[in-house]
This record gives sequence, structure tokens and C-alpha cells, in this order.
Amino acid sequence: MRPVDPRLLRRARPARVFLAGSVLIGVATGLLVIVQAVLLARGISDVVLRDAGVGPVAWMLAAVIAVRAGLVWLQEVVAQRASAAVKSTLRRQVLEHSLKLGPAWLSGERSSRLTTLLTKGLDDLDPYFARYLPQLVLAATVPAGVIGWMATGDLIAAGTVLVTLPLIPVFMALVGWATQAHSRRRQRALEVLAHHFADVVSGLPTLKLFGRAKVQASAVRRVTDKHRAASMSTLRLAFMSSMVLELLASISVALVAVGVGLRLVEGRLGLETALMVLILAPEAYLPLRQVGAQFHASADGVAAAEEVLRVLETPLPVAGERADVPDLRRTPLYLHDVTVRYPDRSEPAVEGFDLELWPGEVVALTGRSGVGKSTLLAAILGFVTVERGVVVAGGSAADEFDPVLWRRQFGWVPQRPGLRVGTVADNVRLGRPDAADSQVRQALDAAGAAELALDTPVGEQGRLLSGGQQRRVALARALITEAPVLLLDEPTAGLDADTEATVIAGLRGTGRTVLLVAHRPTLLAAADRTVEVGARKSPIDRLVERELVTP
Ligand code: ADP
Ligand code: MG
Repeated sequence: MRPVDPRLLRRARPARVFLAGSVLIGVATGLLVIVQAVLLARGISDVVLRDAGVGPVAWMLAAVIAVRAGLVWLQEVVAQRASAAVKSTLRRQVLEHSLKLGPAWLSGERSSRLTTLLTKGLDDLDPYFARYLPQLVLAATVPAGVIGWMATGDLIAAGTVLVTLPLIPVFMALVGWATQAHSRRRQRALEVLAHHFADVVSGLPTLKLFGRAKVQASAVRRVTDKHRAASMSTLRLAFMSSMVLELLASISVALVAVGVGLRLVEGRLGLETALMVLILAPEAYLPLRQVGAQFHASADGVAAAEEVLRVLETPLPVAGERADVPDLRRTPLYLHDVTVRYPDRSEPAVEGFDLELWPGEVVALTGRSGVGKSTLLAAILGFVTVERGVVVAGGSAADEFDPVLWRRQFGWVPQRPGLRVGTVADNVRLGRPDAADSQVRQALDAAGAAELALDTPVGEQGRLLSGGQQRRVALARALITEAPVLLLDEPTAGLDADTEATVIAGLRGTGRTVLLVAHRPTLLAAADRTVEVGARKSPIDRLVERELVTP
């Protein structure tokens, strides 16, 4: 882990501003530390040697202390603001970037990982900005200034500090090195534990049903016990390592003190200088020790930031820019030799697929599960990259067009309906935000969801609706768009025969082009044409295709 990731500074302007501000505050703090020591030394020697009052010096000292307190406050305020700004910048950037990467990239476990990362994960950046970075800046500025100033009064003391100071980072590195394997093991145990808990809780009804809940409870107890023991041993290590550092710093200061004392007795050093050096010496070690303590507190945040940067550096598929998208009300859509391979899969999800889709046609895609039907719809929508072959409309490849304009040609019902929290009407209006209530009602009726009131609550991921109802709401959402082509991924799965008949009649009534993924005979019969995905082409077909179709 690098102390400051330059990529983070490049991505997030607030972080750059913050770092610059922290350096200013750090330099000012360093100067004030020196002034404070000088004033203290002067005040004490005035009282001891000259028997004078402490009047003006005391006031100046008070002022310096007040300004130092002010700087601490300022640093805190700046850090909180910077942290909030950086987090919101990164969150926005990741959201925008992942939207551009599309649903294929986001699918599966990645979306839940991203959710954790963008919510809790990034919050761990707070200690990084509020504690670690400012401390790091202090560690770079204060010791240098302090040693420099000490050198003007007592070269030997400055030399002692200069020699012993590097011992602190060296010992920190040694301790870190020794505990690294340990803490990594514990981290892994924690992850296992988290997954185990999540699994047990989500499977609790099943466990209860089979009378295994009690057994799980004792398993959880055993695992947590082990975890507790591991945590305690890590804590022990942490305490030990901070004690080592403490001891090291104390011994170093003692070395300086002994030297200063001897020279004072021999009369080679004035009291004021000796006091100044003694007061300054611990200040040189303090920031370095604290950096070590904050390093661990901020490690999670830095890991989260690295994960974010990894997402941001995922290259985007090159998007077309042409705005003259052909009107699919009049232009047919061709898929030619379409082959799609998901990243890190050896086998293509769909290979060499051809299709013509004429305006007004209802075409059913069939084929066993996993043969690539949903992938084909995603390829038409431009959500996955076509490895070989093309999607063509009006004589141009689909990926030449601006993806946003291209997708306006399509109403899509994904295989998983993907509803949001809100009401049924809210969800349908995603298809057309300015739709009137009557239009929403009409779309719902056409989708066979006559029984659903507009203000029926939907819940997270459609949870308050049945599976069939969710699909029909999604269908209504597609129907309400004015898109000339509807791409429907198993739109009537989970519907009873009567409702299905209504829905199909509704689809035909619109006069729009429909490409639907279907299994059921009724749905297949309602289509003008059925195309099987994954059917092997005969050699003669391949030959004809190669000779006649391929340019
Ligand atoms: P169908 O809709 O015909 O059931 P899919 O198009 O969903 O099939 O999937 C086709 C193949 O691609 C399957 O083998 C599936 O495992 C794989 N697949 C689908 N989505 C992804 C994905 N996001 N990442 C990797 N592989 C995927
Ligand atoms: Mg599918």
C-alpha cells in the first residue's frame, strides 16, 4: 500500500486541494512547535536565572497555544469536508462508469460487491483523510523543522535525534512485517465468518424446517469463539508493538537528555538552549509514532479506494456517436453471425447466430436454458460486446450509433423484471415519465395486470408483488414506451393461461415488432415465426452462408 495513491489525487480534485491545505497547516504547525519551545525555554530560564516576571512571554505562549488549537480545528474541518467531497466524487464517478459499462458487467455478484463498496466501503476513507494524511504531512514537516532548529542551538543533540529518528520507521516496518501474515489470516477468518453468518441467516427457514437450526447455533458459537481468540491475540500484538515504539522514543529522548545534561554541567551549554532542546526532542518523534498508529486505521479505506479505482479503470466499450438511428418502424433489423463471449469464459455464450426481424413481425426465440437467448437480446441492446458478427439496421452496424438513441428504439422486459421501490405506477412510468394515469392504466391492462391498482406498493426488487405480477408490471413498462421494437425475455413465465392469452392479444394489437423469448406452446403459436437458438446449422447452410451472404 502506497501512502498516497497518485491516481486518487488525479481522480478527485478535493483530495488535491486537501493535501495542499494540509501541507500549509503542517508547515505552520511545525513552526509553532518550535516557537512554543523557544518561548517556554525563555520563560523558564527568565524565572530561574534572572528572577524576572513572565509577563510578555506568558502572553505570547498563550497566543501560540491558541493558534495551535485553531490549526487542529482547521485541519479537522478541512479533513471532514475533503473526505465527504472525495467520497461523493468517487461515488458519482463509479456510478456513471458502471452505468456506461452496462448491465452485463454489473450482473451477478458484482452488483452486490459494488453496493457494499459504494456505501460502507468508501466510508472507511474518513479516517484516512481525517487522521492518516494530516499525520503523514506532519511526520514529513515537523521532525525536519525541529531538527533544523535544534541544530542552531546544539549540534550534538540534533545529531542524536537525527540518528535515532529513523529507528522508529524501521521498527514499525519490522513489527508490521511480523504481524502482516497474522492480520491477513484474521482478515480472511472475518470474511469467512461474515459469509457464514449471511448464509445461516438467509437459510434459517430451511434449517428450521429440517430441524438443523440448533446445530448451526453451536457451529456459529464455535466459530465466533475462535474469532474472539484471534482478535484478542491481534490486540495483544498491537499493544506490544505500540509499547516497543513508545520505549524506543523514550530511550532516544533520554539519550538526548543525558547528553544535554552533561554539557550543561560542564558549562558548554546555556540553560535556555538546553531547555529548548529538551522540550523539542519529543516533538520530533511524536508525529512519526502517530503515523504508525493511523496507518492501520486507514488501511480499509485505502483498500476501498483501490477497489474504486480498479472499477474506474475498467475500459469502456467504445460507443458509437451517430445520431441518425434508422426508424425500426420501417427498417428491418438483422443479426448476422452474432457471437458473444463473456469475459473470462472460454466458451462463447452464443455463436454464429443469424436473424432477420421485419417491422411488425412477432418472432419467438426458443431453445433450452442457457443457450444464449437473453444474451442475444443484450447484444441487440448493445449491453454486451459482440465478438464476431454484427447487428445491422439501415445498412449500418448498430454499434456505430449513439447507444442512448439506439436503445430508444426498444422496449425491453428483462428476464429479471428489476422493479424499484415505489408504486406500480412509478415503475410503469420509467418507460415514459410524462405518462398520464389513464395511459399507465391502459398499459397495465394490456399487460394483463388489470387487478393491480396504480398505487400498489412494489417494495425492494418488487418484493411485495408476486413473480407473475412483477413480470406484468415490467411488460406494462415496456408497452408504455413508444419504442417500435419490443424485446421480451420470457414475459409470460408465471402467468396463468387466461392472462397469457390477454397479454398476447395485447401484443398483437400494438402492431409493433416483437422479439420474445418463449417456451410455452401458446406463446410459440401466437408468434409469426419461431427461431431456435443454438440449433446446429447444417453444413450446406454454412456453405450457402459463407458463399452468398458474407461479403
Ligand atoms: P438463456 O437466456 O438462453 O437461458 P443466457 O443468455 O442467459 O441463456 O446465457 C447464455 C450463457 O452465457 C450461459 O451459459 C450463461 O452461463 C452465460 N452467461 C450469461 N450471463 C453471463 C454473465 N454475465 N457472465 C458470464 N456468463 C454469462
Ligand atoms: Mg434467459
